[in-house]
Amino acid sequence: MAIRKRMKDRYRHVSFLSDIEGMKNAIGEMRGMFFPKQPPFNLNARPGISHPLPDEAWFEKTLTDKIARHPENGMEYPFYGEPIFEAPLVGFVRGDDPIFNTFKEVIGPHHFTPWEIMRWQAENNGVKPPEAHDLSVVSFVMPLTRNTKRDNAAASDWPAERWAQTRLSGEIFSQTIVREIVTDLMDQGVLAISPDVTPKFNKKRYPKVGWASPWSHRHIAYAAGLGTFGMQDFLITEKGCAHRLGSFVVNLKLAPNRKRPEDIHAYCLQYQGIPCLKCAARCPVSAITAEKAHDKEACYQKVAKSLKYCNKNYHIFIYGCGLCATGVPCESSIPKPLR
Ligand code: SF4
Ligand code: SF4
Repeated sequence: MAIRKRMKDRYRHVSFLSDIEGMKNAIGEMRGMFFPKQPPFNLNARPGISHPLPDEAWFEKTLTDKIARHPENGMEYPFYGEPIFEAPLVGFVRGDDPIFNTFKEVIGPHHFTPWEIMRWQAENNGVKPPEAHDLSVVSFVMPLTRNTKRDNAAASDWPAERWAQTRLSGEIFSQTIVREIVTDLMDQGVLAISPDVTPKFNKKRYPKVGWASPWSHRHIAYAAGLGTFGMQDFLITEKGCAHRLGSFVVNLKLAPNRKRPEDIHAYCLQYQGIPCLKCAARCPVSAITAEKAHDKEACYQKVAKSLKYCNKNYHIFIYGCGLCATGVPCESSIPKPLR
């Protein structure tokens, strides 16, 4: 997790060399590097005795408050003072939900179950790993602002500047608030871990699914009932698909608060037989088609090229695109006929 100086009244000079934290973030999210050590587990704490155990309402309130008030939820020059994200959606999945075994089949055996990643955390702290049924996953959706969505919807080849800033500063913000929550829980004697900021995390090309990571926030959010997948593979939620997602595992029994649709494409017009393909029309490299849905490799090639564009024009070290998530019927809500 990078602590990154936010530029207030000018662009960064020579961002290809000077945006060190941007570079660390980009490499970190591919290779699981440059993250700070996991917060220590307080072996002397007596969870639930000195103060009550956090419950579902605590997580919802804490995430909502952080997004509303945290100083790191902010853009930099030339949008300094604007927030990156709006109020979140929060959901929960049981640690022993059979869907995690399904993910091993659908995504691949490399995708962690909550228990696998928590075992790593527990053993590193010299404690016995909790049982899977004593774990939960907290998942959250952070919707992008109206300004960011409007700008990206107006773009046709490369991401808008607000979108690029959201991709970088928003990811760092997400890691920051999760780290704060995980640190707080570990100090209270509650094991917790954010799998995407550990050395166990890395993204690779897999034979079955192409580019994939061992912890997919999107799949976790689906498991928590927060949304379903669109043709472009973004998760369509009640706040739309223009968002960033986060999730972490806790040694607490939290009750799921949403019903997960069986159909993983329940909120996509095209998949539900209502002609749409607006996302395909937005893609500058035709990486989305009716026949093959989302071509991850073609998308990856385009997104990788955006690094140069963002550096040259926005003076930050980041790649991104998201054109297919903006200016489309599922951008800010579940499309009307499917609500
Ligand atoms: S734009 Fe249309 S086809 Fe594409 S994901 Fe959204 S609802 Fe589905
Ligand atoms: S994110 Fe990928 S699929 Fe979507 S518009 Fe960009 S290149 Fe196309």
